[in-house]
Formats: sequence, structure tokens, C-alpha cells
Amino acid sequence: MTTPSCSLCAGPAVYLDRVTGEHLCGVHLAARVEEVFRSTFRGPGGLSANERVAVAFSGGKDSSVLLHLLATVAAPELGLSLVALTIDEGIDRYREETVRAARALAARLGVEHRIVGFGDACGASLDDLVAGRAARACTICGILRRRLLQQAARDLGADRLATGHCLDDEAESIVMNWLRGDLYRSAGVRPAGGAGMVPRTKPLARLLEKEVVLYGILHDLAPTLPECPYARHALRSGVRGMVHRAEHRWPGTMARVVAGQVALENRLRGQLPPARFTTCPACGEPVLGESCRACALLGRALENH
Ligand code: SF4
Repeated sequence: MTTPSCSLCAGPAVYLDRVTGEHLCGVHLAARVEEVFRSTFRGPGGLSANERVAVAFSGGKDSSVLLHLLATVAAPELGLSLVALTIDEGIDRYREETVRAARALAARLGVEHRIVGFGDACGASLDDLVAGRAARACTICGILRRRLLQQAARDLGADRLATGHCLDDEAESIVMNWLRGDLYRSAGVRPAGGAGMVPRTKPLARLLEKEVVLYGILHDLAPTLPECPYARHALRSGVRGMVHRAEHRWPGTMARVVAGQVALENRLRGQLPPARFTTCPACGEPVLGESCRACALLGRALENH
């Protein structure tokens, strides 16, 4: 079978945009990824000149591409100061390798790198916290990881916390909110940030994961790493299969799901009571609603430990 040519030059294509039918070579795919990344970080909710940006950096493919693009494209253009944050949850036979990969890439890019361990910050590793109830691992991990990223970003004086969510993650999260019956998020009503919250930004949110991964392969940013042993229990794993099958059959599905959510959010803005942050009396962190899920989970988890 002959390799198709790039629609923009005579080079061999490495990527097919299934929505437009356009074939792209490595050079033009990389240029497309950087163009979409640039328009996102320069758009609403993006980055401003001279900000200090904390980057949620697991060492996996998406966050490696994010750190690379921030360090090589956004930081020189906007004069950003970057600090990469890796949360080590303490997951045996998984995190050691990804932390090693994260250290190596941060050093290669010359980016300041901090590692925060569940053991130090929460008193126990995730493996210990979820012993005997692996099905809860992703819920506990997600809540505690978000808390530690916020705390570390704030402690390091960051103006923004950048995460590597791509279009696939955004579409999956919307479908997960529907399946959970989460009124506020399903209605597209985002809570206003609370005092002490570092605003988040998602500079890869308009790129498909396959575009991000291919960009990573082309730039030697896609190490082969083990999969988290708890991933198969996550609701996201099931939703991911569903969303990807829909995207494969009807290209553009993920972008339409996200665009629908944005339209709903714009339509309902100001019509529903806003979700409000309060301060947790135990840890002093801003929390959504009356109770602090991190303290509740951690207290419960440690009691059972
Ligand atoms: Fe945490 Fe679940 Fe992700 Fe593993 S798959 S790192 S447990 S959220």
C-alpha cells in the first residue's frame, strides 16, 4: 500500500484528519498542533505575559507534550516562569517509572521540577489508602491529587495551574458528568474560583489525544510507560471506549460534545445559583459546598488503614 502524501506538501503523510479528510506530514502536523496550542493559550482563560505557571506533570505523554510546548513555545513568547509539579501517589510498579521519566524530561527542558508524595502530604501512599477497595482508587486519587496540585501551585507562587487535558478528556468528562447526574457540571455551570484557588488552564483542550501523542512521538516525548494498575476500575475507562467508538464512527463527535457544553453554559449563565466555595475548618482549604471531600476521604481512608 502506498503512503498518501501530505495535503500541504509532497512529503509522506503521518496523520489523517478524519473530519476534513486532510493528510499531514510530520512537519505540518507539528505546525498544526503548535498553532492550535498557541491560539488556546493566547485565548480566553489562557496565559498572560510574565506569569508564573505551575504545570501538572505526571511524566505521561500528554503532560510531557504540554511541558515541552510551554517551555519551547509559550514561555519564550510570553516570558513565563515554569515549575513542573509531579504528584507521586505511591503506586507500586507504576509511579517509579513515570517519576523517573518526568525527572529526565524536566532536566532536558531546563524546567524547575517539584515532586510531592502522597506519603508526605497525606500520611500514606495510595496503595495503602485503598488496600482492599481498589474500585475506589481513582476517586480517592483524583480528589487528593487535585488538592495537592492546588496547594503546591499556591505555595510556589503560581498565577496559573496548567493541566494536560486534551479534547478527548474534556468530552469524556462531560459524558461522565451526565452519567453521574452531576447537576452543576452537567448544566455547564462552573463554580467561581474561591480565595486561595490557583486558576486552572488547559492549553491542549482543543487538540485530539492522537494529535498530541503523535506530536510527542515526533519530538521524542512519548516514553513507553506502564499503565496504572487501578485504571481498569475507573468510570473514565468505560466512558473512554464509548466516546472513542463514537468518534471513530462519526468523526467530530468529541468536538461537538464540547461545543454543546459550552453553548449550554453560555445559555444558562446567571440562571442557576452559582456553586460557592467555603473554607474547610479542618484543613483551611477552599472547598465546594459545605464539606471537604479530601478531609472526609482521608479521614475515612486512614481510619480503615
Ligand atoms: Fe490515579 Fe486512577 Fe489515574 Fe491511577 S488511573 S493515577 S489511580 S486516577
